[in-house]
Amino acid sequence: MNELERLIDQASEAIISSTLTLALTGAGISVESGIPDFRSAGGLWSRFDPAEYATIEAFRANPEKVWEMLAEMDKVVSAAKPNPAHIALGELERLGYLHYIITQNIDNLHQEGGSRNVIEYHGNSSTLSCLWCGKSYSARDKRGDMPPRCECGKILKPDVVFFGEPIPPDALNRSFQLASSAQVLMVIGTSALVSPANTIPSIAKQNRAKIIEINMERTQLTDSITDIFLQGKAGEVVPALVQAVKKKGGGSPLV
Ligand code: NAD
Ligand code: ZN
Repeated sequence: MNELERLIDQASEAIISSTLTLALTGAGISVESGIPDFRSAGGLWSRFDPAEYATIEAFRANPEKVWEMLAEMDKVVSAAKPNPAHIALGELERLGYLHYIITQNIDNLHQEGGSRNVIEYHGNSSTLSCLWCGKSYSARDKRGDMPPRCECGKILKPDVVFFGEPIPPDALNRSFQLASSAQVLMVIGTSALVSPANTIPSIAKQNRAKIIEINMERTQLTDSITDIFLQGKAGEVVPALVQAVKKKGGGSPLV
């Protein structure tokens, strides 16, 4: 058994004996589905600086310009399919070992990968709203209309949380509640730099949750609060972890 296999084994035991297991996911879990994260070289974010395009101030000041970025992102996201990491998390939930996913992603790939209990911390790009009159639309119905407009004439905004916008209260409260009582938190593919999502691991740790981190690179969590660091691609490590849980724990959890 190599070092990674030994750590996966240890992580699988923590998951098997936990009664409340959460996963906090970030853009890294969808990189292997073809959606670049904020830190990937090249691609979307080298042409559209998130600090310039993904703020609510930028949207209010110049929605046409921000829609140039949104339209490209929409193209990438709508072509993306769940990868083995999303699918393995869906299976872990079905087996009863994963209770909730809190995702910072807006790409719907967890749901497409079979997960049901998904808390969308930063919203979802499949609906659009009017900041002026409050009317809501399906993004699919508005494709082809660029920038998409409300019947009142104003430009619509996707229901994703831009920098400078509050987290949807339900997602914020539910995540806090769950993190406060979790026994295991898997942190997958997030740099843990975006606030307040990056407070979830420390809230869980205060409750003495075991923190299992899966990332290709070390993050600010790795040497501070992570208990088990599984270094590698999410699309390889997550399925290996789920296999280990199945092998050791059988088809269903102890509780
Ligand atoms: P981030 O871009 O800040 O960090 C991504 C992390 O994932 C990095 O630590 C990187 O090392 C790691 N990573 C990259 N590829 C990986 C792989 N194959 N396997 C495992 N780890 C991998 O992402 P963030 O922390 O989620 O913060 C960025 C913000 O932008 C979030 O709100 C995020 O949801 C949003 N965003 C979302 C999407 C999406 O919906 N898919 C895409 C880009 C950005
Ligand atoms: Zn309107």
